[in-house]
Amino acid sequence: MLDLIPHESLSEELLQFRDSIRRFVERELIPLEHSLGPNGMLAPEQADSLRERARRAGFWLMDVPEEFGGQGLPLLALAVFWEEVGRSTVASWVRDHGLFGPMVGPILLGLDASQRARYLVPVLEGSKRSCFAQTEPDAGSDPSAMRMRAARSAGGYRLNGVKRFITRAALADFAIVMAVTDPEKGARGGISCFIVDMDAPGVTLATSEKTLMGDSPCEISFEDVEVPLANLVGEEGRGFALAQGYINYGRVRQGAHACGAMERCLGLTAEYVNQRKTFGELLSARQGVQWMIADAFTELYASRMMVYDAARKTDAGHEARLETFMIKTFAVEAGFRVVDTCMQLHGGMGLTEDTPIERFWRDLRSYRITEGPTEVLRTTMARQILKHYS
Ligand SMILES: Cc1cc2nc3c(=O)[nH]c(=O)nc-3n(C[C@H](O)[C@H](O)[C@H](O)COP(=O)(O)OP(=O)(O)OC[C@H]3O[C@@H](n4cnc5c(N)ncnc54)[C@H](O)[C@@H]3O)c2cc1C
Repeated sequence: MLDLIPHESLSEELLQFRDSIRRFVERELIPLEHSLGPNGMLAPEQADSLRERARRAGFWLMDVPEEFGGQGLPLLALAVFWEEVGRSTVASWVRDHGLFGPMVGPILLGLDASQRARYLVPVLEGSKRSCFAQTEPDAGSDPSAMRMRAARSAGGYRLNGVKRFITRAALADFAIVMAVTDPEKGARGGISCFIVDMDAPGVTLATSEKTLMGDSPCEISFEDVEVPLANLVGEEGRGFALAQGYINYGRVRQGAHACGAMERCLGLTAEYVNQRKTFGELLSARQGVQWMIADAFTELYASRMMVYDAARKTDAGHEARLETFMIKTFAVEAGFRVVDTCMQLHGGMGLTEDTPIERFWRDLRSYRITEGPTEVLRTTMARQILKHYS
């Protein structure tokens, strides 16, 4: 594979780490791509066996701090890891097989000691699963418009409202829920974060929506659900900030996954155009095709630089919020463009399940919407940039 890595961006140790995870992906994940079911998932026994092999190979709980039994890798190493696993559709972020350990975002890691014992530890041990519930039927891109109400009650809070498009809701034991505690303040101190057990009275799983990626996020209805004070996460009114932190982290992961997908699809495409002839000539001999390939590799290189740079800045303790927004708008959109080019250059084969390109294409299309549509990020970025010059 053509190794387009930003100059001196990865230490010798990180390069070795990258090679070892790449070998694991080539050996264990890519051969299973044809086993993914119509819902995009592996059979449970296949996933269990893969999880065990990942654990034995040392690729386990990479993003979980050492104090909780994880490896606590810095963000640059995680970006390298996410990029490599992003080269296979089996470990795509939308699949969420938890192949390298359960997903635990910053909110779960930030719980207080009692909440950690009741929720974080069981998640890490594999005995409980969580979901994250922010989106509502009338509040998606604009979560500040959420209506779900958490009113004070004798024992804590009473929750009423509906959440929509919640990934893993059907399998979750508890939900991390955002709700309005002070309608006057709204997003500026009026939204709080709660842990709600999915078997609590008043919690009902409503419809699920089938998506083009094969998954089925659910609607959850909350009707007079009593949540104890002990399940308020952080301070009242801090929910919005916590949720944004959770989503910021996801942007680097989405960008790194997009780089992995681009690299895999581009490798397959370069090989294909080098051997496919039309009208008596190789596709690779045509300037129109050459320019598509050159532009696509340039998009991969630029995206990777952005991901590595934002990760390095974060690791060095600098603020990189704007950069993570840029990753989402640039790298994620570039990922879809590049995979679409690869599909085009494969002709009819690109539309079949014989190559992984069509599944990458569907996954990357979703990245432009989930965890914040790119248009909304552009608006937020522009506001921050223009404020600087006002
Ligand atoms: C498969 C899947 C999984 C999901 N998982 C979760 C989950 O686990 N938890 C959770 O809380 N949510 C989840 N979501 C919800 C997801 O985050 C929202 O769908 C997303 O934020 C967009 O919200 P919306 O669908 O309501 O679109 P809308 O808010 O209705 O926006 C529609 C479109 O309008 C455009 N737009 C919106 N605002 C602006 C603007 N200011 N300027 C210009 N254009 C604009 C954008 O193109 C946007 O795509 C999931 C969604 C999907 C599809």
